Amino acid sequence: MALIDFKENIDRCLKCGACLYGYNTWMPSCPSGERYGFMSYYARGRLDMAYGLLAKQINWNAKLNHILYSCADCKTCENACTEQTSVKNLDIILEMKREAVERGSVPVEIRDFLENVYHFGNPYGKPRQKRGAWAEGLNIETYAGQEYLFYVGCVGSYDDVGQKSAISFSQVMLKAGVSFGILSEKELCDGNEVNRLGETGLFEDLAGKNISLFKDLKVSKIVTISPHSYNALKNEYPRLGGDFEVYHSSQLLRDLIHENRIKFSSELNYKATYHDPCWLGRRNDIYDAPRQVLESVPGLDLVEMKRNRVYSFCCGGGGGNFFSDMIGSGGEMAPSRRRVREAMETEASVLAVACPICAVMFEDAIKSEKAEDKLIVKNISEIVHDMTG
Ligand code: SF4
Ligand code: SF4
Repeated sequence: MALIDFKENIDRCLKCGACLYGYNTWMPSCPSGERYGFMSYYARGRLDMAYGLLAKQINWNAKLNHILYSCADCKTCENACTEQTSVKNLDIILEMKREAVERGSVPVEIRDFLENVYHFGNPYGKPRQKRGAWAEGLNIETYAGQEYLFYVGCVGSYDDVGQKSAISFSQVMLKAGVSFGILSEKELCDGNEVNRLGETGLFEDLAGKNISLFKDLKVSKIVTISPHSYNALKNEYPRLGGDFEVYHSSQLLRDLIHENRIKFSSELNYKATYHDPCWLGRRNDIYDAPRQVLESVPGLDLVEMKRNRVYSFCCGGGGGNFFSDMIGSGGEMAPSRRRVREAMETEASVLAVACPICAVMFEDAIKSEKAEDKLIVKNISEIVHDMTG
């Protein structure tokens, strides 16, 4: 496909604008549009740019690339778009990203992301030998035919905040007697973001290497804490020959609680609100499992934010923004800070997440909002771990 193949859809988009607000809610929904406040930063503006490129009214330049890559790939616009039109708006934005990669004109932050993944197997450019350092001293086995491969992902492996999700989830699995192992330095980026940033060749290379490693190790079930990894493993790998049973950690936690394999040893007394991660909710339709986990925790009062489930407002970390920060997460209108303010409106004292990227984005946003005494962010596995003594 090329951009020209979408011309008719692009023409239709220019007469619309429905995606500025969540379908049927009239609540602002596009994190990059709301962050910058210009039409060009909404999906409609990006498709305007596609029209301009095709009509040769504009050229590829740094500003256009910034607008393109500040998209958090959260799919809120596509939900509104497909409710009302047949414009494949995110396919068009992805095609623009592919053209940007082919032309070698991606922003330097995106170039660094892709080059780091290519050279080191993670976007941070950290040594591959350190990938399993978070698990040292925790009695976690290396994968060797156990029931589950615990695929940790780059953020859970290398980021201090992300590691809290990896540690708590593995501790709960150990307590529940789950048979699992990790790959440590053998684990390689799953490539979900690489794919969505338009680097199809690198994605297929990563996926191919992961699939052949998993097959060599005779992996059949994979569990991951990352909704982004979940998406790549579950929805992208099968077409490349990798057909595994894939679970998100929230699904396994829910099942372990239902099977009475997790015993709560104390009772909480706080209100928590749950943030639906884009790649778990809108992308993969998993809304109930994390809520069922939280509802099972004794003494936890679960309250909903105004925008929840399919209308959840993105943390701004998707589309590689947790690393590239093209979306500008420092400003007051940053999506993560808006979402933290929305969480505080519920009077919850805990913002529960089910994605290491969301945890990283919100932890920073809570500091920027100077709200550390009002709200803390915890992965649902941390909440369960706290309660199991
Ligand atoms: S992206 Fe879809 S919903 Fe948004 S303006 Fe274009 S056609 Fe309308
Ligand atoms: S995917 Fe999200 S950030 Fe990108 S244009 Fe759509 S609503 Fe905006």
